[in-house]
Amino acid sequence: MRGLYYFGEGRAEVRSDLPVPVPAADESLIKIKFAAVCSTDREVLAGYKPDFVGVMGHEFVGVVEKSSDPTLVGARVVGELNAGCGKCIYCRTGREGHCVDRRVIGLANKDGCFAEHMTLRTDLLHRVPDSLPDEVAVFCEPLAAALEITDKVHVRPSQPLCVVGDGRLALMIAQVLSLTGAEVVVCGHHADKLERFKPFARVEVGEDETFELVVDASGSPSGFDTARRLVRHRGTLVLKSTFAEKSPMNLADLVVNEVTVVGSRCGPFEPALRLLERGLVTLPPIELYDLDDWRDAFGSRAFKSGFKF
Ligand SMILES: [Zn+2]
Ligand SMILES: [Zn+2]
Repeated sequence: MRGLYYFGEGRAEVRSDLPVPVPAADESLIKIKFAAVCSTDREVLAGYKPDFVGVMGHEFVGVVEKSSDPTLVGARVVGELNAGCGKCIYCRTGREGHCVDRRVIGLANKDGCFAEHMTLRTDLLHRVPDSLPDEVAVFCEPLAAALEITDKVHVRPSQPLCVVGDGRLALMIAQVLSLTGAEVVVCGHHADKLERFKPFARVEVGEDETFELVVDASGSPSGFDTARRLVRHRGTLVLKSTFAEKSPMNLADLVVNEVTVVGSRCGPFEPALRLLERGLVTLPPIELYDLDDWRDAFGSRAFKSGFKF
């Protein structure tokens, strides 16, 4: 089968000699229909996961062809990334996504979805509602990551909050947070991208304005600095960016200002599917490429780019 294979050290190539993976006893074999490029994939190419070798990609919609659960065969599914060891303290305490030995599709010890087929543990799969088109369902994983914020911090609808960044994840986070009724203020640099936020957010930060809750989804060290400046003393700063670049951080002001810092990564899929199915979160269309044109897909300035198989 064909797949985009990462060899390490920033080198990737489309291979057509990859074997179709064989599912383990607790896994399913999925025929990938759509896969989306995420900034995390770009970071992998930039060296964010130096130990990873294998098929890239972790955002997908596919159809189950074989499964440890026969009732799933033929079902359209999306899937969670992290498969834990089942034994460690994190796996035993409901934090499988934090297992130190976890396998993560397209990121750690497990082939991802930029290929015609992929295997994944069956209990990590979620059925896609019939009314939800593939092109929309493929946004489930990043939307789940946005929803994780509401799982972790208390959002007070009576207080304005700020999202730093105007990219894909920022758009999803801002929409999710606006559903609470809170006034969402977006701090970004790109006038064209900020247009998309206007239906549900204010896109200008007032002079000297600060916030109890600030979410950094900028994907850059400078965005982190902005977020730090915008958060009030004793406020909460949620960090959603993973970047390969190391930033020299001065943490003293976080200490002095008693800021609560919350790291946040993957989130719940079922609520994300519900929001998409009910049209409560709407997103610009995904731009589709052939796998051979993966460099164009990775370099695309579209809201979301991806592959159709
Ligand atoms: Zn992603
Ligand atoms: Zn574990």
